[in-house]
Amino acid sequence: TKNIGKIEPEFIRSFQFENKLLPLTWVVVRIDGCHFHRFSDVHEFEKPNDEQALKLMNSCAVAVLEEFEDIHFAYGVSDEYSFVLKKESELYKRQSSKKKSAITSFFTSTYVLQWGEFFPHKELKYPPSFDGRAVCYPTYNILLDYLAWRQVDCHINNQYNTCFWMLVKSGKTKTQSQDYLKGTQTREKNELLSRQFGIEYNALPVIFRMGSSVFRRKEAENGVVSRKKLEGEVVVDHCNIIERCFWEEHPHILS
Ligand code: ATP
Ligand code: ATP
Ligand code: MG
Ligand code: MG
Ligand code: MG
Ligand code: MG
Repeated sequence: TKNIGKIEPEFIRSFQFENKLLPLTWVVVRIDGCHFHRFSDVHEFEKPNDEQALKLMNSCAVAVLEEFEDIHFAYGVSDEYSFVLKKESELYKRQSSKKKSAITSFFTSTYVLQWGEFFPHKELKYPPSFDGRAVCYPTYNILLDYLAWRQVDCHINNQYNTCFWMLVKSGKTKTQSQDYLKGTQTREKNELLSRQFGIEYNALPVIFRMGSSVFRRKEAENGVVSRKKLEGEVVVDHCNIIERCFWEEHPHILS
């Protein structure tokens, strides 16, 4: 007869398949808010960019870097964050599912825990969730291309959303605004903003245009001995990470 005594642990365990990330590659764990279109509606985020919501995301990313030493850099925009682990990381023996689930759940619980600090007058109406994926990038150049791709996405979306919400706020319906913007190029969108709305795109807050980068401060970066305690401190900046010079000026972060 079949009974509990006949369970063979080795056999049961054999159903778990290997999910090891390729050794000595940069692993990027990207988390993204689930259905944040709705979440941002329900919680009345300012459109196109709610600065407090972005600052909450950034604060969670700082907490993630403080928790996981192997994460050397993070880049965030909208409801997403990419976390870059150093090549040599042996976190969870490079098991993909453990890495992404641990980082994603830590980020999510921090988001809930810190909600009230960033939105003291807004009740959190339901539990937010994030999904996570892990991807290996085999060379430094491809990794920088990945990060540049996310920042290009930030630019394109921010420009489109800024135009879209200005049109909506000026009285057009969402469909009319969409149709109006269909097929327009970057230059035309910038012209629309400046001609119709008096907005210079490049004068918009840098956090909206560049997204947010999170990394550890290099020792004695500011050259002041008394600041030495800041060494290794996790900081948030809104740098241009598309341009190579950022990486050349901050070689301690990833290379
Ligand atoms: P999915 O579950 O597939 O990710 P989603 O609704 O989260 O669906 P995304 O493509 O991830 O879709 O887009 C996130 C959406 O969340 C944006 O389109 C925007 O409407 C909203 N959002 C996120 N962050 C902010 C913010 N700081 N300010 C205003 N809106 C935001
Ligand atoms: P890992 O991060 O590797 O999972 P862990 O410390 O979580 O390490 P587990 O093997 O998952 O180790 O064991 C969970 C531990 O948490 C238990 O050994 C026990 O000490 C504690 N624990 C969990 N749930 C309870 C509970 N309901 N009551 C008392 N202790 C608990
Ligand atoms: Mg998604
Ligand atoms: Mg999302
Ligand atoms: Mg998203
Ligand atoms: Mg456990």
